Amino acid sequence: MCGIVGYVGNGSAREIIIDGLKKLEYRGYDSSGIAFGTGNNLEIRKCVGRISNLETLLSKENLDSHIGIGHTRWATHGAPSDANAHPHSNMDESIAIVHNGIIENYVELKEMLINEHGVVFKSETDTEVIAHLLGVLYDGDLEEAVWKAVEMMRGAYALVAIHKDEPDKMIAVRKDAPLIAGLGKGCNFVASDIPALLKYVREIYLIENNELIVVTADDVKIYNAERKPVTREVFHVTWDVDAAEKGGYDHFMLKEIHEQPKGLEDTLVRRLNDNGEIVLEGITMTKEDIENFNKVYIVACGTAYHAGLVGKAAIEKMARIPVEVEVASEFRYRDPFVDDKTLFIAISQSGETLDTLAALREAKSKGARVLSVVNVVGSSVARESDDVFYTWAGPEIAVASTKAYTTQLMCMYMIGLYMGLTKGTITREFYDSYIEELKAIPGKLAKVLENEGAIENLAKELYRREHVFFIGRGPDSGVSLEGSLKLKEISYINSFAIAAGELKHGTIALIEQGTLVIALATQDKLFEKMLSNIQEVKARGAYVIGVAKDGNKDIEKQADKTIYIPECIDEITPLLSVVPLQLLAYYIAKLRGCDIDKPKNLAKSVTVE
Ligand code: GLU
Repeated sequence: MCGIVGYVGNGSAREIIIDGLKKLEYRGYDSSGIAFGTGNNLEIRKCVGRISNLETLLSKENLDSHIGIGHTRWATHGAPSDANAHPHSNMDESIAIVHNGIIENYVELKEMLINEHGVVFKSETDTEVIAHLLGVLYDGDLEEAVWKAVEMMRGAYALVAIHKDEPDKMIAVRKDAPLIAGLGKGCNFVASDIPALLKYVREIYLIENNELIVVTADDVKIYNAERKPVTREVFHVTWDVDAAEKGGYDHFMLKEIHEQPKGLEDTLVRRLNDNGEIVLEGITMTKEDIENFNKVYIVACGTAYHAGLVGKAAIEKMARIPVEVEVASEFRYRDPFVDDKTLFIAISQSGETLDTLAALREAKSKGARVLSVVNVVGSSVARESDDVFYTWAGPEIAVASTKAYTTQLMCMYMIGLYMGLTKGTITREFYDSYIEELKAIPGKLAKVLENEGAIENLAKELYRREHVFFIGRGPDSGVSLEGSLKLKEISYINSFAIAAGELKHGTIALIEQGTLVIALATQDKLFEKMLSNIQEVKARGAYVIGVAKDGNKDIEKQADKTIYIPECIDEITPLLSVVPLQLLAYYIAKLRGCDIDKPKNLAKSVTVE
């Protein structure tokens, strides 16, 4: 994730690119920069922080041009810093590039560039490899160099390059990362997304995967992977800027719910090698370390804590080691049993959650080894951990977390699998079949999302309720907590989650005629037990919405309405079953007229105790 804007024409590249980057800040915001082509030279200005920092930097001089490429970064390789900010250039600074995505074979390419070409690197990014690669491949024709580089790079990218000796041209290429071209009068644009360009143009070419474009002030040429020219229909944009930022969705939350299949696929596939093995690139925890642990603490807050509950089940089952899950604000004040045989796992979307950070410091001071599951590269939690297992959710803007939660779950399953295989507590066959199950999740999740209309209709029926109970057993009980939290944080409905078997020990006193109960019954092993629990609340007059796997139609005998999710193994149903609950919370909040992306009393990153 990041934002790219490029411009060539007779206007001010500086003004247009800064404007465009501001509209893309929602895609990444840890640093930004611009490269200007100044006739026979390139000038690069970049700095860490928001785009306002770049504006301040640029305000110190009169730098501008008719051509430029800009970038706002969402760090994946290397912490946010001036050096890691884009654009990057080659050794003699004749080429500048901006890049969105990840170059998977960057280590291999980097070694080749160092050993065979004596390249000296200035940043920790995977992106800089592309700049140097283009540098060594360049033979008087930038387009040709990009074609050659594409053959050597693996991964996902949208890339824009300029060369000082071809001062009127941008070359851009895309593979699995968004790229568009904007068509102006006497000027043309490239960008990651439509909002960047709406102030200037509404005629757009949507660039397809593996296409390369050559952009000059009066032309945009598109070529397919076979280098054949392609004719593209012009797409006329009718949305306003606000709608465009949200990709046509009414809220960031809904957009982020829909981004989950992609986020899950990225989180899983980017850590798998060709043999399906989990590669913990950058993680230094050894087999010996893993065998040495006798206890795991998972510590987090809010939604991340709910991901930890599912993580506990996964790690205990696969690595056969006791796991405690605790909210961070409690952990640090109770002198927990932590020593050098403890693995401490911190989970945080922002990596800035103060409670989690303080708990992490406490555990570290007692000798624990710290592994964090974090979405923001270079954040405080990431920096202070021994190892980081990044989620690849991309920036999450809505305060109510959705895609960060499901990608955290994916990380927890992967950590469990990795530890289990390393310790020999699971077999390779078990591991392989589990990975296959996880690989199928993004497709199944897309199917769950197809059911959105039915959930919206359900919301119309339910949105006036004031009390809701969520119940479930096993992994479903963790998902109940998350479903309940989603509902209360964005719709302000008083909701409560409880392990279904625990209801009868007190809480069932609150169930009366018409009380709404959302019952998760996705576990084959516990299905009949759940049917009994549903019967218990039905007998007291509850109105029950069941959530079950496709095959388990028996639930219809008990529940008033049922939401189905596709079949999968019991342990990983949370990846699917939480999504209807997210959608239900969303549509109920919408019908109640709530400020969905910015609920009252809440902040995205909680940096106070
Ligand atoms: N992988 C690149 C980096 O970490 C690009 C990240 C992005 O898409 O912003 O710099």
